Amino acid sequence: MRSFKSIWLLVGVFFFGIVWVVWAATWVGFWGGQSLYPGTERYEKGRWEKPPICYEFLDTAAKSWTDLERQVARAAIREWHLRLGTLRESTDPQCVGRESDIVLLWAADDFFQDDDFNRDGMRLWLSGAAAAYIPIRVAPPLNWEPCPDLQRANKLNRCSVAVFRVRELQHWFVDPTPESDEEFDLQMVSLCGVPKKLLKAKPGGPAFSKQDFYTLVLHEFGHALGLIHSGGCDRNLFTPSPPTDPKDDDGSVMWEGVLRERREFPHETPAPHLSWSERRHLTESDEMFLFGPGGLYCPDLTVRTLNVKATGPTHGLWTLIVDASVQNVGNIPAGPFAVTVTRNDQLILEKEFESLEPGASKRILATEIVGAGLHLIAIRVDSRDQVTECDEGNNVASRLVRLGE
Ligand SMILES: [Zn+2]
Repeated sequence: MRSFKSIWLLVGVFFFGIVWVVWAATWVGFWGGQSLYPGTERYEKGRWEKPPICYEFLDTAAKSWTDLERQVARAAIREWHLRLGTLRESTDPQCVGRESDIVLLWAADDFFQDDDFNRDGMRLWLSGAAAAYIPIRVAPPLNWEPCPDLQRANKLNRCSVAVFRVRELQHWFVDPTPESDEEFDLQMVSLCGVPKKLLKAKPGGPAFSKQDFYTLVLHEFGHALGLIHSGGCDRNLFTPSPPTDPKDDDGSVMWEGVLRERREFPHETPAPHLSWSERRHLTESDEMFLFGPGGLYCPDLTVRTLNVKATGPTHGLWTLIVDASVQNVGNIPAGPFAVTVTRNDQLILEKEFESLEPGASKRILATEIVGAGLHLIAIRVDSRDQVTECDEGNNVASRLVRLGE
């Protein structure tokens, strides 16, 4: 009777644990599980699986891209590229002949409207937006799936587009020198109660009282890569207090207001000062959901094959031949890293690699002369633990070989 009770207790603890994990993951904002949010199931993990990620500047009837605008946008996208290493423009040989994953385009006011585009009684609220990212597969802003609506209304013929509003251009600072921040000064501000430095436009300078186009592109591109808003000081998108409180600003590029329910865009109270008279660069809080455990992008080194052959014996000795391959099965490049081959925990070979592209593999060959007995051959990739991987548990493979007797 007693053991019967304790089984039920165990079952209860088990289920309570599961429920708690799912609940916590849903409301605390576990980005790796975006699909837990109702209505966003088809978005999976919200990340691009196949590198490179190709982006394209598309000229529309509303407006063509000027050279300077492209230059500023490229500089902003480069910040993400420096972290991910997988972003390529559509003109890059790796992207030619492929449909672009992310398209950047301009649209007029007729696109930025509050409308029930597909007459299903649910409105999209776009009129207040200066720019918007319309997701497909990747990066739904929470519970907001405007793509099918806009397609049915012939407002867009494809999704995964970052749309910039032509009329807003007059309020924007399009930096002629996007590689440097000389129009801004570092100023001490309080962010989440901690004094930090932010780039503020020099009074009377060209960026003053304007919205920084560079920061705007950086922000929208973050959505295109799979990020939703940072959630402010407590990293929770549902608890701004009050909604437009600048005290909830964590200084990140992806900080902005609050989201509540499906398509309630006005409730995503835009942060009144984000990128106005200021410039932002990527911060730790922008990166934390991009990389690391539960992140959207990570390398993943693994042992793909391991073959061990023995030839001999000659004068009682065998030649062991280890032929193995290691692969990066993640979605961004890995490196540098080392690979070791050991026999009975003794090092036979250590090899260093500068980097390994996603999907690529490297061959490892090692030989050793051994006597009779049991030999445990093990290969370990990232043996010095230099790479932060999606999965740290798949780095070792081994074979046991018995020789003689
Ligand atoms: Zn946003």
